[in-house]
Amino acid sequence: MTTDSSHASPLAPEWLALPEDLNALQSPMWAAGVEKNDAGEVAIDGISVKELKEQFGTPLFVMSESDFRSRARAFKDAFDAAFADICGGVDVYYAGKSFLCTAVASWVAEEGLRLDTCSGGELAVAARAGIEGRNLGLHGNNKSDAEINRALDMHVGRIVVDSLDELERVAKIASSRGETAKVMLRLTPGVHAHTHEFIATAHEDQKFGLSMAEDSTEEAGLSAAEEAVAAATSYSSIELLGLHCHIGSQIFEPDGFAVAGEKLLRFLSAMQSKYSIVLPELDLGGGYGIAYTPVDTPRPPAEIAQAMAAVVRSTCAELGIAAPRISIEPGRAIVGSTTFTLYEVGTLKTVRVDAPGGDAEQENVTYPRRYVSVDGGMSDNARPVLYDADYSAILASRSSTAAPQLSRVVGKHCESGDIVVRDVYLPADVAAGDLLAVPGTGAYCWALSSNYNYLARPGVVAVRDGAARLIVRGETEEDLLNRDMGVANV
Ligand SMILES: *Cc1c(COP(=O)(O)O)cnc(C)c1O
Repeated sequence: MTTDSSHASPLAPEWLALPEDLNALQSPMWAAGVEKNDAGEVAIDGISVKELKEQFGTPLFVMSESDFRSRARAFKDAFDAAFADICGGVDVYYAGKSFLCTAVASWVAEEGLRLDTCSGGELAVAARAGIEGRNLGLHGNNKSDAEINRALDMHVGRIVVDSLDELERVAKIASSRGETAKVMLRLTPGVHAHTHEFIATAHEDQKFGLSMAEDSTEEAGLSAAEEAVAAATSYSSIELLGLHCHIGSQIFEPDGFAVAGEKLLRFLSAMQSKYSIVLPELDLGGGYGIAYTPVDTPRPPAEIAQAMAAVVRSTCAELGIAAPRISIEPGRAIVGSTTFTLYEVGTLKTVRVDAPGGDAEQENVTYPRRYVSVDGGMSDNARPVLYDADYSAILASRSSTAAPQLSRVVGKHCESGDIVVRDVYLPADVAAGDLLAVPGTGAYCWALSSNYNYLARPGVVAVRDGAARLIVRGETEEDLLNRDMGVANV
């Protein structure tokens, strides 16, 4: 096909290159097992998107179970290998908030991972999936008493305490039950990782965690983090397992994890000496980045693991302490790329847009941007609206030899910000009834989905060994009306 550079649009962002082949699936955005079949359709494990649409409708989340399992295992294996001689391996907690249902929870357990939850509802999913309490963690900056009680009922392996206030509440509740709560303290090390850089600040201005800044409490010289360590060791109903931090999300460079890890180890060592305690565990959180567009370059788990292991090894040696047991909490990096969203194209329109940059000579020059509307939108993917997130898309139901045209894939909601893919080249002959596939929608899409405009939330299909099955069914009109108490009820 032609990819004449004259088809490149000046409206496209700098990072978006004209693809060499509009019909090709660009790795690493796609799950293993997704390919173009002989008919030119996107297929997963041999099942074409047309078959999926016929059986399950659109929009639809289409997930590769085998890809999920192998990504989960890859993290576990890579970190176990890198940390084997440091602390005997790593506990990997899958961050359930990225996407959770009972099937996924059971895969996580079967692959030897643990599960991170952050609400009573997520604990309920874990319970229904039969996950053992000792393999669960509970997060959250505002856990209710009911959630703390539920965690204790389920004997969760760790409650990650977020504040001094909460520490006291957990201690009281555990004490009133005559039990001991296993607790980690979530600290904010002042390290913030962004996609391509990290910044370090002394003070934290966010709702999560206990500040490590030395003037973060009224009592001069004592950080909130240290005050919490001191308090935790004084409560007989608290067993302090160790420290935790989570520096951000969609991070590619391992430097931020390394800086935070070193800072927490120094603090851990200081606390062990000062309070004559042993803090046997250290959690370095999640946040590993994935490819949403062709320019994203995620690191293999082994590379991240080795960078983190090097810092833990050298810092512990320098401090002369035994390394704590390390744990991590990847969500997006396990589930994100396992899934694509399948949409059907409806309305199309092309607008003319002024040349970018306000070039005087080009004053009267305009360029076309085509709006391609699909049958979902911000209700099944809120990330573009929430975070300005970029995605990619491909014509999935056929191949095309048409020229590339700069397109914007939008949803069907009453909101002009309802964008699914802000900028993508699609074949110029995309028409109503075509199917589009958007890769990288496994994390924080279904999880953040809504019923805005009374759209039914899509189902999730898992494909394995050439068979597709629903792991979460899509909503029906009856579901949408289920909670409405009706006019007769006033
Ligand atoms: C969100 C979150 C994670 C997972 O983040 P990912 O970017 O999905 O890896 C891990 N730990 C904590 C505490 C979180 O809040």
